[in-house]
Amino acid sequence: MKLVFATHNNNKLEEIRLLLPEKIELLSLTDIGCFDPIEEYGRTLEENAWIKARYVREHYALDCFSDDSGLEVKSLNGAPGVISARYAGEEKNADKNMDKLLNELQDIAERSAQFRTVIALTTNGVEMAFEGIIKGTIIKEKRGDGGFGYDPIFCPEGYNKTFAELPMEEKNKISHRSRAFQKLLKYLKDF
Ligand code: IMP
Repeated sequence: MKLVFATHNNNKLEEIRLLLPEKIELLSLTDIGCFDPIEEYGRTLEENAWIKARYVREHYALDCFSDDSGLEVKSLNGAPGVISARYAGEEKNADKNMDKLLNELQDIAERSAQFRTVIALTTNGVEMAFEGIIKGTIIKEKRGDGGFGYDPIFCPEGYNKTFAELPMEEKNKISHRSRAFQKLLKYLKDF
């Protein structure tokens, strides 16, 4: 079966392709010639993931899955959440996003947070969602050079290193994204 991963990112695509059963032919948005700007202005991670997956189903009549992730901080009622990428503005600058968050949390002792990924999958008109979560805390200063986004200020539970200090393979074993994708892969194994 053909299955679209609603992304133009080849690295993401290859990583997942290697883990899928051979009978699933994984295609990117580039592969299907979809260069439409799909607006991701849902109010939740779930809404954003469904916007992309349903767009592909409706416009290309293909089975599709899409992922959306964000950082949710407890004392900020789940912010930045769905706007994690553009928390400090449309330029999507990771340093500015982290500075803004550190500033918001300056005098706050409750610093627990979680990264969350939602994957929306539509196959033959059946819709399924998969979630992955990693809990942790927001530290007071950036630490580490690895990773991306909020990694330098996020310490996963049970570790005294930030995501940006952990080797990539180690982060990938426990990350919200890998947890959600493991659930998706388990589901697709029987296709
Ligand atoms: P996306 O849905 O994977 O594009 O993630 C949206 C935004 O959430 C990113 O631009 C980052 O700001 C943040 N984010 C998601 N996953 C991670 C992560 O693993 N580390 C750090 N930041 C992340």
